[in-house]
Amino acid sequence: MLLSARQDGLNPRPLIIRNGDGLTINFKLNDRFDIDAAKDGMGRAWVGWSLDLSDHEVYEQNRGIWLLGRRARSQEVATFSHHGEVVAVVAIERIEDIPSLQHQKPKQAIIGRVLQVGDADYDALIGQRVDHYRNPVTYLPTGLRTCRCGCGGAVAGSRAFLPGHDQRAIHDRIAQEWGTTLQFVEWFDNAYGKPGAVTADR
Ligand SMILES: [Zn+2]
Repeated sequence: MLLSARQDGLNPRPLIIRNGDGLTINFKLNDRFDIDAAKDGMGRAWVGWSLDLSDHEVYEQNRGIWLLGRRARSQEVATFSHHGEVVAVVAIERIEDIPSLQHQKPKQAIIGRVLQVGDADYDALIGQRVDHYRNPVTYLPTGLRTCRCGCGGAVAGSRAFLPGHDQRAIHDRIAQEWGTTLQFVEWFDNAYGKPGAVTADR
């Protein structure tokens, strides 16, 4: 599935990667560079990424202007990558048309909420490697899976849990069967002996 999409004045193109049951559209960013605001449909003087930018600035300056097909419009999460690594994550709320100043077909910009630490999608996607493909848009065959704690968050690669969610999964199970961690530990030690302890019958 290919979409023809690129940011005006930029080589970077969106890439769509799997995110749990859904898909994530990724926008490749170059190093920050100046553009002519008078010729930009969003009146911007620069686009791209640099280290000093906040995630929100990365989003504001790069949420357009892309040529997005119908498939892209059904995505819920967008990522921005720089040098093949996800540097910002956005929950897409809607996509707006940006009228062309050169009397071409309108192109698009995403409108959404910039995610941060603690958002399941952010935790799963930030820092992930996004491979470079020649095609403008690619669906990765091996994608992100769902956190095994049952929260529904997307986890990347071979990980089973979102950060901290392994503890949550353990605690939920202890709480259900033993009530408290102390009760669980006492039960365990009675049944199996303290971990690492040499007991008389071993
Ligand atoms: Zn979880």
